[in-house]
Amino acid sequence: MPTTDTITDPSDRPGAEKPVERCPECRSPLAVNERFPTWCPSCEWNLLPPEPPAEHLTPRQRRRAEKAERRAEAARRDVRERSEQVFKLVAEDGSDLQDSSTVAAYALAGAVHLVSLSVFLLGIALVTGLLLPAWTNRLLGVVALAVACLLRPRLGRPAREGVLDRATAPTLYALVDRIAEEVGATKVDTIVVDGDWNLSFAVLGLRRRRQLTIGLPLWTVLAPQQRVSVLAHELGRCVNGDNRRGLWTGSATAALVEWCRLTAPKRTRLGTGSSGLMMLIADSVANHVLWVVNRAAYGLALVMNRLSLRSGQAAEYRADRLSVRLTSVADTRGALTSSLHWPTFETVVLRQRTLPRRRADGGQSAHPDLWQSLAEAVRTVPPMETERRLRVAARQGDAVDGSHPPTHLRLRMLTATAPEQHRHPVVLDSGRAALIEAELAELRRRVAGKLV
Ligand SMILES: [Zn+2]
Repeated sequence: MPTTDTITDPSDRPGAEKPVERCPECRSPLAVNERFPTWCPSCEWNLLPPEPPAEHLTPRQRRRAEKAERRAEAARRDVRERSEQVFKLVAEDGSDLQDSSTVAAYALAGAVHLVSLSVFLLGIALVTGLLLPAWTNRLLGVVALAVACLLRPRLGRPAREGVLDRATAPTLYALVDRIAEEVGATKVDTIVVDGDWNLSFAVLGLRRRRQLTIGLPLWTVLAPQQRVSVLAHELGRCVNGDNRRGLWTGSATAALVEWCRLTAPKRTRLGTGSSGLMMLIADSVANHVLWVVNRAAYGLALVMNRLSLRSGQAAEYRADRLSVRLTSVADTRGALTSSLHWPTFETVVLRQRTLPRRRADGGQSAHPDLWQSLAEAVRTVPPMETERRLRVAARQGDAVDGSHPPTHLRLRMLTATAPEQHRHPVVLDSGRAALIEAELAELRRRVAGKLV
């Protein structure tokens, strides 16, 4: 707990005394806000408030948890170091980092596709009797085809829920089209709205549908120009040469993730007796085989991630530069900083869930709107807490898989390389912002209903 001292605050009248909490480590004065943890910006005391010890664990479980935590910390350190390297390379010469690891990522993706194709061709050869004409082999062929179907490259599937069509949201589509034009991207096919703290863009399915997903919580806390900045970043992904999202490597990575999921060993409980025992042995053998495949797929997915980290993070920096070109350094910085406030979003949702449900028809006023509460809660996060969240993200890595550069590095890159614009090519004025809000109103109600 912070210690309480009594010192003279120079801003007060001479002689007036006021208790000031001081850091127990370095004795610096602390700013206290009861909504948030008290921490020390000088020595980072209590930057991450300690978690309560897990008492229900057996010694063995505890050792295992500690080992897992050490491994996770080593992985975080590795990503941090690599992210710092990419930052240096990009900040120095802004190179596009299409290096040997990118070539290796393409090759690995090729190997993954080759495995799927081989199993598929084997299945065809067996089923058609081309290889061996016995009926048992045809049966094996059917199994091989089923496996090939599971191994197939994954192209993703466009969301069907929360879709906004052009007729319902003409202003939003006009804004997104304008931004796409400015960054040199093709128009999106659909805009989807959901309840995530995120905005994302993806090209999905066999028909390669271009889908933009707007997470209403994050959208709500962004100022209009910050919204333009985030949209420019997302749409900029189509033009920034990010090979992770391309058809070839993207579908291979998604396939690897799917292989991991499919082969995750499951524990089954079976009955006793001799048949139960046989099943148990068969189950155990199958689980061991699956475990080997699972580890192999997991290992390959990790390698893919490592190979793509450099070019992927460099692409994210380029997308940030596009954001600045369409808005300003201040807007892009503001949007990035706002994205740190998801803990506040979680708190607001939890609080709203505990509020009694009042209905307007019951004569009582409806409880405060989720979106208003969220905007207000984020608006009143003090700078000291924003700074703490930024430092926590820097220490823990807010994108542990390295898919994005950590936020503190993205902010630093904005200051290091992006020229301040004095002209705003895309301005979302208050009139159009209000029209877009009206277009989103119905989905806002639906998403809030699901969240709370
Ligand atoms: Zn301190």
